[in-house]
Amino acid sequence: MSLLEVDGLSRDYRGRGPGSPVTHALRGVSFELGAGETLAVIGESGSGKTTLMRLLLALDGATAGTVRFAGREVVPGPARTLGWLRRETGIVLQDPYSSLDPRMSVGASVSEPLRALGVSVDHRARVRDVLARVGLDAELAGRYPHELSGGQRQRVALSRAIVHGPKLLIGDEPLSALDVTVRAQVLELLRELHRDLGLAVVLVSHDIGLVQHFAERVLVMHDGEVVEAGASAQVLAAPQHPYTRRLLAAVPRLSS
Ligand code: ADP
Ligand code: MG
Repeated sequence: MSLLEVDGLSRDYRGRGPGSPVTHALRGVSFELGAGETLAVIGESGSGKTTLMRLLLALDGATAGTVRFAGREVVPGPARTLGWLRRETGIVLQDPYSSLDPRMSVGASVSEPLRALGVSVDHRARVRDVLARVGLDAELAGRYPHELSGGQRQRVALSRAIVHGPKLLIGDEPLSALDVTVRAQVLELLRELHRDLGLAVVLVSHDIGLVQHFAERVLVMHDGEVVEAGASAQVLAAPQHPYTRRLLAAVPRLSS
């Protein structure tokens, strides 16, 4: 059984009032992701990537189609009915400020999911372990977000996303706001988390150059649809869809 099974997923956004236009943010998206696999979701701004991630995590509901996580259907609902999904997943967003409470110390921020999800481990020990895992000094636990660099903040956000031991990590453009050198370090960290913890990772990006350095498989999205999907090496070497070719031509590829 796949970890994620996405079948015919669509999401329409209706404007307010009669006659206002409908945005088809997703149009019949289907794919599967196995446990421990890496997938890059690539497409320009507005192609539906964030909408798809929100549906995977039941932060929003589909207009049509289904999402299954380990065989269980994912539908939005009250927090108490979604605890199982929260325990199995973590998300990192582009801007670590939006996922960190400025009034909470790093230690409190990172242990918060353990409390919220009722994970019965030694919280202090777990926080210490996870900070070490993402390459942060244990001493940072007493600091506040504004005292950290952008790269450190993103590492803290990553700690929060994995502290409870999920099976799936979603990164929605987690590198976009970082300097180029820091970006490479955080990408390497994501790769280590995948390799060492056996985490499945979905990495959303508008940069197709990232794909060859990270993901085994890639989905190329355009206007709410998956226009191309396959093994990364294959898609990069021989893109089939004109849109994928355009993306590849537009972005200078990182040297391999
Ligand atoms: P991406 O993450 O690839 O940039 P999004 O999933 O954010 O794309 O957006 C896809 C489309 O859906 C865009 O046209 C966007 O304007 C629209 N959209 C996203 N969220 C909403 C919303 N809450 N209400 C109305 N339209 C939305
Ligand atoms: Mg987005």
